[in-house]
Amino acid sequence: MSSQHLMANYARLPITISRGEGSWLWDSQGKQYLDALSGIGVCGLGHAHPAVAAAIADQAKTLIHCSNLYGIELQQQLAQRLCQLSGMDKAFFANSGAESIEAAIKLARMYGHQQGIKQPSIIVSDNSFHGRTLATLSATGNRKVQAGFEPLVQGFIRVPFNDVEALRAVAANSPEAVAVLIEPIQGEGGINVPDDDYLSVMREICDEQNWLMILDEVQTGVGRTGQWFAFQHSNVQPDVISLAKGLGNGLPIGSCLARGKAAEVLQAGSHGSTFGGNPLVCRAALTVLDTIEQEQLLARSSSVGEWIRSTLREKLNDSPVIVSIRGKGLMIGIELNQDCSELLTQALDNGLLISVQAGRVIRLLPPLTISDAEAQQIVDRLLALINDFAAHQAA
Ligand code: PLP
Repeated sequence: MSSQHLMANYARLPITISRGEGSWLWDSQGKQYLDALSGIGVCGLGHAHPAVAAAIADQAKTLIHCSNLYGIELQQQLAQRLCQLSGMDKAFFANSGAESIEAAIKLARMYGHQQGIKQPSIIVSDNSFHGRTLATLSATGNRKVQAGFEPLVQGFIRVPFNDVEALRAVAANSPEAVAVLIEPIQGEGGINVPDDDYLSVMREICDEQNWLMILDEVQTGVGRTGQWFAFQHSNVQPDVISLAKGLGNGLPIGSCLARGKAAEVLQAGSHGSTFGGNPLVCRAALTVLDTIEQEQLLARSSSVGEWIRSTLREKLNDSPVIVSIRGKGLMIGIELNQDCSELLTQALDNGLLISVQAGRVIRLLPPLTISDAEAQQIVDRLLALINDFAAHQAA
C-alpha cells in the first residue's frame, strides 16, 4: 500500500505499525520496537491491555452510541469518578485534547461575558501547545503551529511560562483578562517543569483577580506524572481542567472538568458534541481508571520515572552534550546542547520509539505499566544512542 491518497500533513517515519502488546509494537515487516512514547502519551496501560480490550468488546455488543439527546449511564459514572479523583464538580466530554481545551476556552469566554466583560481575554504562555483547531492553535505559543492559518482567533494574552511577575503585570494592565490557561508541565514545548510554587502563586493571583485557573492536563493527566493529575503535586485546586490522551488508552475521549462557579457556566444549548462521551469510550475510560488503581500505577509511574531519570543522570554525568534531565513520573525530557532530531531515526533503527521536542529535547512517555526490565532496556538503548551522538559531535 502507499500513502498517495493521504494528505501530506504528517511527516511520518518510514515504518507501518501493525500490532502491539504491552510496551511493544511490531511493524508490517515483523520488526519489534520498544515503545517509549505510548502513541504520544495515550496508551498508558500499554497496547492491547486485556481488561480494556475485553471492556470495549463487551460494550460494542451492548451499545456503542446513542447521542447526547438521551441520558448515558456510563457517562454519568465516568463524570462522577473523574470529579472524585480530581476534586472537581462537573464534566463535559469531548473526543480529543483540542476539543477539551476548546470547551475550556468557550467556558472562560462565557464566564467573562457573565461578568460584564465584552471582549474577554485568556492568558496563555510561550512555548505552550493546546491543539490544532483554530482557537487552540491561536492559544498555542508556537508560531510554526499558527503559520498559514491567519487570521488567528483573538482574545489571548501571551506571557512567558513560569513567570508570575508577568501574570501580575497582566493583572495591573489588562482588565479584559478572565482566565489563565497553562500546562502544569509543558509537553510539546520540551518537558518544561515550572518552579514548585508556580501554580500556588498563580492560584493566589487568580483568586485576587477573579480569573479562572484553567490547566491543560491533556498530556500530564491520568497518572502520567505519578499523580492522577499534575496539579496534585502542588497544594492547589484549579477551576477548570482539560484532559484527553491517557483517558481512553487509545479510544478518542477528552474531558473538560470544572468546579464551583465555573461548573455552572455552560447551560443547555451552549456547547455540545455528537460523539462526545458515548458509551463505548466511557466504558474504556472507566476501565482505564480502575486498572490504574488496581495495578497501583500512580506509584509505579513515580518510582520507575525517578529511576529512569536518576540512572540517566548518573550515567550521563560527564556527557558533554547533556544540558538537563527532567520531568515528573513517566513524563521525561533529556535536553541536549544542540539539535538532535537525527536521534529519532537512529532510535527507530535500534528498535526504540521516542520523540524529539523543540529540536533538542528527547521526550519519553512510556506506558505506566512498563516493567523494570523494559525500563532498563530504554535506558541502555538511549545511553548507546546519546554516547554515539556525543562521540560523533566530538570527532
Ligand atoms: N494539549 C496538550 C498539552 C497536548 O499535548 C496536546 C496534544 O499533544 C493537545 C492539547 C491536543 O490534543 P489532541 O491532539 O488530542 O487534539
